[in-house]
Amino acid sequence: MLLALLAIGPLVLPEFYVTLLNYIGLYALVALGLVLLTGVGGLTSFGQAAFVGLGAYTTGYLTTAEELPAVLSWFAVSPWLTLVAGLLVTLAVAGVLGLLTLRLSGHYLPLGTLAWGMSLYFLFGNVSFLGGHTGMTGIPPLSLFGFELRDGRHLYYLIWLILLAAVWMTQNLLDSREGRAIRALKGGGIMAEAMGVDTARSRMIIFLVAAAFAAISGWLYAHMQRFVNPTPFSLHIGIEYLFMAVIGGAGYVWGALVGAGLITVLKQWLQDLLPRVFGASGNFEIIVFGLLMIFVFHRARDGIWPLLARAVPIKRPARAVPTGEPLARRERPPPGTTLLEVKDAVKKFGGLVANNKMSLEVRAGEILALIGPNGAGKSTLFNLVTGVDPPTSGEVSFLGERVDGCCSREIARRGMSRTFQHVRLLPAMSVLENVAIGAHQRGSAGVAAAAVHGERGEEARLLAEAARQIERVGLTEYMFDAAGSLALGQQRIVEIARALSSDPSLLLLDEPAAGLRYLEKETLADLLRKLRDEGMGILLVEHDMDFVMGLADRVVVMEFGEKIAEGLPEQVQCNPAVIEAYLGGVD
Ligand code: ADP
Ligand code: MG
Repeated sequence: MLLALLAIGPLVLPEFYVTLLNYIGLYALVALGLVLLTGVGGLTSFGQAAFVGLGAYTTGYLTTAEELPAVLSWFAVSPWLTLVAGLLVTLAVAGVLGLLTLRLSGHYLPLGTLAWGMSLYFLFGNVSFLGGHTGMTGIPPLSLFGFELRDGRHLYYLIWLILLAAVWMTQNLLDSREGRAIRALKGGGIMAEAMGVDTARSRMIIFLVAAAFAAISGWLYAHMQRFVNPTPFSLHIGIEYLFMAVIGGAGYVWGALVGAGLITVLKQWLQDLLPRVFGASGNFEIIVFGLLMIFVFHRARDGIWPLLARAVPIKRPARAVPTGEPLARRERPPPGTTLLEVKDAVKKFGGLVANNKMSLEVRAGEILALIGPNGAGKSTLFNLVTGVDPPTSGEVSFLGERVDGCCSREIARRGMSRTFQHVRLLPAMSVLENVAIGAHQRGSAGVAAAAVHGERGEEARLLAEAARQIERVGLTEYMFDAAGSLALGQQRIVEIARALSSDPSLLLLDEPAAGLRYLEKETLADLLRKLRDEGMGILLVEHDMDFVMGLADRVVVMEFGEKIAEGLPEQVQCNPAVIEAYLGGVD
C-alpha cells in the first residue's frame, strides 16, 4: 500500500512535491544512520552532516576536476565509481574519528562529534580545490544503463529505492546476532562483554554504517543539485539530522522516515510563514524545532513513530517457538577437575579493602556457596573473577590458566558465565532475545550476512538454543514477553538461562534466589542440582541460608572482605565465628 503510493507519487504530484520527497528521502537516509547509532546504540552524534559532505565533495571533486592525479582518474569514469570512492573516503575518515572518539564516555563523545563536525565543515569551505565557500558546479547527472537521471522524477525512484533498501538492511541487521549485540550496548557494556560481545567492535560497526548511509546521501545530493557548497554540511544541519531521528523515533527504523518527513515539510512551511509573521527574514523555524524537541522529550520520549504504530495496528506474525539443529558444545572438563582457583586475591577501592587475600577453588560437578553479610565483598569477588574489575593483587586461574588481567569477554569465551546481583537485562527486548545474547559467542555470522538475511540457518540455531535454555529454566510461557515485564525474581532466572546459553563449564550466580517464592526456589534448586550432576561447576552467592545449606557441597564464608570459614555446610553452620558474623549479624 505504502509502496504503491510511493511508486505512483511522482507520476501524479507536481514537481515541487517530488523535489520535497527527494529531500525527505535523502534526509531520512542520514537519519536512519542516526537511528542505528543514537537511538539503538546510544551514541549521540552531531557530526553526521560532515559525512554527508564527504560523500558529496568526493564525487563533486572527482567528476569536475580538470586534471586528476593518475591514481584517481579511473574513478572519474562514472559517478557510480565516485560513490565507491566517497564511501572509501568516508569510511576511512570515520574509522579514524571512531578510533579517536568512540572510547570517550558520557558527554565527551557528543562533544567529540561537535568538534569533527566543525572541523570538516571548515575544511570544505577553505580548501581551494574544493571550491571554497562558493563550492563546485557542473557536477554531471547520474546515469543508469545509459539513461541520464536529469529529472527529479527519475532521481526520485533511485533515492527511494536506496532508502528502502537501507531500511530493509538495517531492520535485518537489528534482527540478528550482531543486532542483539548492538542493542545490548545501551545496557552499558558490562553485561554484553560478559556474554562475549566485543562492544568496541559493535560501536565501530554502527558508527561506520551510519557514516556510510550519510555518504550515500551526500553522493545522491551532489548529483541531484549538480553543485555543492559547504552550507548543507554544517554543524547546524548535523543537529537538524539528530532532531529528525529523535522526533521521528530514534529507536525505530521508520522513525527516521517520519522524522525526516515531518521536519522537512515543517521547515518548508515555516520558512514561508514565520518571516511574514515576524516581519523580518531569518531562520525562525529553529525556534519551533527547539520547542518541538522539548515537547517530544516531555510527552513522547520515544518519538512520533511508536504513537503512529499504535494507531495503525500492524498484524504480527504468529510467534512459533524457534527450532533448529543444536549448536556445537564445548568439551566438558571431567567431574572433579579444578575449574576456578583464586589465590590471595586482593581488591582495594581507594582505602577500602573489599577483598583481602581471598582464596577459593571450584571444581567441576560441585556447588560452592559463597555467603557472608551484606558488604562482605562477595560481588566484588565475582567481578574480579569474571574480569569486570581486575584484582589489585593475587591470582585467578581458570582451567589451569591465569585469567586475571584478561578482559571479561575473553574469560567468557573460555567457558565461564555469570548472572548479576542487580539484574542486567534489556527490558524492552523479549526474553528470547535476551537469552540469545548469551549464545553470542557460539555464532559467527557477520554484519554483511545479517544485513541481507544470509545467516538465517545460524540464527535459527542460536534462537533454538535460547529457547531450549528458557524451557530448561521453566519460563517457556514468557518467551516472547518483554523481559522488563517479568517479576524481578523471574528476571533473575532469565539471567540464568542467558548464562546457560553460552554453554559454560563454570556458572557464577550472584543471589539468584532473591525475590523468588518458596516453590520457585525449590525449582531453582532442582535445576542447579541437575546442572551439577551434568558436571558443571557452580559458584553461588546467596543470602538465604536454608536455600544454601540444602544445596551446596561446600561453603565459603566471608566477612569484611576476608574468608572466615570454609567447609561442609553442616561444619560451617556450627562454626562460632560464622554464627557471630552472619547469623547474629545485621541481617
Ligand atoms: P557483597 O556483594 O558481599 O554484599 P560487595 O562486594 O558488593 O559486597 O561490596 C564490598 C564492599 O566494597 C562494600 O563496602 C562496597 O561498598 C564496596 N564496593 C563495592 N564495589 C565498589 C566500587 N566499585 N567502588 C568502591 N567501593 C565498592
Ligand atoms: Mg553482592
